[in-house]
Amino acid sequence: MAALAAAAAGASPQLRFMSAAQLLALRGSPDVAIIDVRDEDERAYDGHIAGSLHCESHSFQDDLPRLLQDLSRHKTVVFHCALSQVRGPKCAKAFLHSISSSGGGPEVFVLERGFNGWAQYGHPQCSCKELKRCIALLE
Ligand SMILES: [Zn+2]
Repeated sequence: MAALAAAAAGASPQLRFMSAAQLLALRGSPDVAIIDVRDEDERAYDGHIAGSLHCESHSFQDDLPRLLQDLSRHKTVVFHCALSQVRGPKCAKAFLHSISSSGGGPEVFVLERGFNGWAQYGHPQCSCKELKRCIALLE
């Protein structure tokens, strides 16, 4: 019913969530990209998921063409902000919308509970200064 209604309304594809444990298992793969959409100071001072990329939510629309190009070979793209309640889902939706209009593209997820949840579980964090593209080696 819900799927039919969404299709009839021409709604954008359903946003899917991924748990921190699922992301931890996937993280080492070269075709998985993690996109942090928090502000630069949050990423610098609170730390970030080791190996993640950065694309701030407030300039997301402007950065979208570059991001689409960067991620064209990835199979899975996972967005997050601090809690993944507002900014993360919003950017994931914008990304989904642009790939669904061009056809194909990676699978898009939002990380449940965001960076704060990830940090609470004690999963790998980084505090490097390479804010656009974390240099932490994925192991
Ligand atoms: Zn880093």
